[in-house]
Amino acid sequence: MNRNEQLFNRAKNIIPGGVNSPVRAFGSVGGVPRFIKKAQGAYVWDENGTRYIDYVGSWGPAIVGHAHPEVVEAVREAALGGLSFGAPTEGEIVMAEEIAKLVPSVEQVRLVSSGTEATMSAIRLARGFTGRDKIIKFEGCYHGHSDSLLVKAGSGLLTFGNPSSAGVPADFTKHTLVLAYNNTAQLEETFARIGGEIACVILEPFAGNMNLVRPSENFIRSLRALTKQHGAVLIYDEVMTGFRVALGGAQSLHGVKPDLTTMGKVIGGGMPLAAFGGRKDIMACISPLGGVYQAGTLSGNPVAVAAGLKTLEIIQREGFYENLSALNRQLTEGFQAAAREAGITFSADYIGGMFGLYFSDGLPQSYADMAASNTDGFKKFFHGMLDNGVAFGPSAYEACFMSAAHTPELVEETVAAARKVFAQMAAEI
Ligand SMILES: *Cc1c(COP(=O)(O)O)cnc(C)c1O
Repeated sequence: MNRNEQLFNRAKNIIPGGVNSPVRAFGSVGGVPRFIKKAQGAYVWDENGTRYIDYVGSWGPAIVGHAHPEVVEAVREAALGGLSFGAPTEGEIVMAEEIAKLVPSVEQVRLVSSGTEATMSAIRLARGFTGRDKIIKFEGCYHGHSDSLLVKAGSGLLTFGNPSSAGVPADFTKHTLVLAYNNTAQLEETFARIGGEIACVILEPFAGNMNLVRPSENFIRSLRALTKQHGAVLIYDEVMTGFRVALGGAQSLHGVKPDLTTMGKVIGGGMPLAAFGGRKDIMACISPLGGVYQAGTLSGNPVAVAAGLKTLEIIQREGFYENLSALNRQLTEGFQAAAREAGITFSADYIGGMFGLYFSDGLPQSYADMAASNTDGFKKFFHGMLDNGVAFGPSAYEACFMSAAHTPELVEETVAAARKVFAQMAAEI
């Protein structure tokens, strides 16, 4: 038995499913999860000592590469000065000012420790600000695991959602309406019917939790116009896309100013840090100024802030996003050519530093499109790539992440591995 298997068996005795976040268990692809021993630059090493070119990037945060020396040094320096104070620090102001500078729709910002906290707080804030209860989310968008967001679509059109997790009372989710991503007509119809009752609409401005799915221009324009017209708060959940698809996030590419924005992943540079922010008049509703309660013992943690600030400094260096895009173009074009050669049905897309791989003919527009893709093909591809030293997220519904530590040579190596795996897959059909 190899060490990954040993550790997985040992973990399953003491940790439910052996993991501290479900996707890590390899449930949807089968097999044994790789227990990571260390990571450096574009590589991770598992407990067997096997090295992988990594496109998980800790699910996004590792945009400058793993254990970047400057980030590690910033963390070390901060840690020497104390790990947590439970009192305000200057670093938090610098971080907030930096976020507001890079994301102009954010006039004020509050730091929290996870994306879940950021979105949960933003929703509470939107409800407090509007005095309304109902919220709209879209099928396939993930906004963390707070009760009112663990909702799947109801049975009929325009019905309120059902809990997608045991332990969530239906009473909690009856205020959450789940609509289809990119379905502008459904959105218009909903606002025409109950627009005055909607506190907020929350979306992933490029969806990254049903693989990578782009919104149509029409959908984005309607979202902004309808929320404005009906006095609902528009929340861009940029926990994944913030500082990932572009320096100013998805909103800078859409040319849209949301009312609130949630951020996480990249802003912590691998440490637990997230944020929500936006219009000053809305943010003024948060405690201690306003009546919407929100708090955190470790919020704005000095070590996390140090890691985040150094990461934000590095991503502002000349050509950072152009480089990520060029690597992503090389990878997605290489994969598509390799799939075509092998006769495998496949497509790929990228935006800035994230990319999507699909075992389907065209690019998916919604969760339903993704669900109709060949997830079995993904499974084979995933394990084939792993066997060839390349790690992707262990689910067809996950986006993939490029880092600045990747190089054209590493991408070429990745494409060569894909060529081999596609050929194996074709031989099996
Ligand atoms: C990862 C993610 C979250 C949740 O963040 P956590 O830090 O895992 O709680 C929320 N929204 C989006 C879009 C995400 O990608």
